[in-house]
Amino acid sequence: MHTDTFGILAAGPILGLPGETFWTAVGWLANVTFTSRFLVQWYATEKRKQVTVPALFWWLSLVGALLFLFYAVYYDQHHVIIFAYAFTPIPYIRNLMIHYRHVNAEKTCAQCGEKSSPKANYCPKCGSQLPVPVSN
Ligand SMILES: [Zn+2]
Repeated sequence: MHTDTFGILAAGPILGLPGETFWTAVGWLANVTFTSRFLVQWYATEKRKQVTVPALFWWLSLVGALLFLFYAVYYDQHHVIIFAYAFTPIPYIRNLMIHYRHVNAEKTCAQCGEKSSPKANYCPKCGSQLPVPVSN
């Protein structure tokens, strides 16, 4: 049993489970979530035959890191583990912001509906000229 410096959270019962069982489940959920991101990234890379980091990788990284941080702060309470996960959400969130900004700026071909990079001048599918963005 860990020292409960954050109130009732470490001791439990939590959601009807003994504290030890609840936190073990949180720790394993964090492990599974964090590890699954590598399988997602590997699959995306094999599928495209090019190194690819899909948005799901960053979502799994973020959720896994937050679960580990939750586990570390409220249960493990060891500064090494807390420090390991305290700052990693920053690049995950930043990568998601950049990803969705790019997705929102994509051009849609008026001829075939294909989505293209914001910098593309011609549709990669049908070759039609894409609209030039209006500069502010
Ligand atoms: Zn097109």
